[in-house]
Amino acid sequence: MSIADNIIAFEQKLAGTPARLVVVTKTHPVEMLREAYAAGARIFGENRVQEMAAKHPELPADVEWHQIGQLQTNKVKYLASFVHTVESVDSLRLLQEMDKQAAKHNRIICGLLQFHIAKEETKTGLSLAEAEAILQSPEYQAMRHVRLTGVMGIATNSPDEALVRGEFKQLRQHFEYLKSTYFADSEYFRELSMGMSADYAWALAEGSTLIRVGSAIFGRRG
Ligand SMILES: *Cc1c(COP(=O)(O)O)cnc(C)c1O
Repeated sequence: MSIADNIIAFEQKLAGTPARLVVVTKTHPVEMLREAYAAGARIFGENRVQEMAAKHPELPADVEWHQIGQLQTNKVKYLASFVHTVESVDSLRLLQEMDKQAAKHNRIICGLLQFHIAKEETKTGLSLAEAEAILQSPEYQAMRHVRLTGVMGIATNSPDEALVRGEFKQLRQHFEYLKSTYFADSEYFRELSMGMSADYAWALAEGSTLIRVGSAIFGRRG
């Protein structure tokens, strides 16, 4: 199957669900991104700042760029003029820097609060208490150039359906709690980014609105 065939197959799977496809293009050359774009893909996810910044001018302006990997505050400035959503918001400091850099470009950067849901120690992200501390802080409440639009999580890399779905369920519970507690008046807080090549079907069953798919479209990364 070609890249285009794979994208079309995913779009068909998502038809009739609330979910959209984030095509994870990290490590792949611009020609492959162009092929994905030609097949209809419009949301691209990258995890390295330099790589995203280099690819961005090579693609049409209507691409929605999502930062999906951990983002160091000192690198926000390289993305601030164009990034649509930072899916990996894991600290107040990062949000403050996004707000400051977005203000310089007179624009708004969207963010997803990344939660730690996996059993593995290495996967980063916030606890619910940490997320609430951010949302309650006067620093966050004063921000005018960031908009939190939902949550993101990475499940344990495991074939155990009950385990993985349990983690997605927990993320959805965090999402629903935050929505009703802090974003009841906001139409913007609506994204539940969960599911990758290996577990997107379970994520969709648990209510995902953004699946982040790389290898199932492009093959294994080199
Ligand atoms: C690489 C990556 C993906 C895509 O992984 P695949 O298994 O190739 O689909 C999704 N989300 C994040 C955060 C990633 O870093």
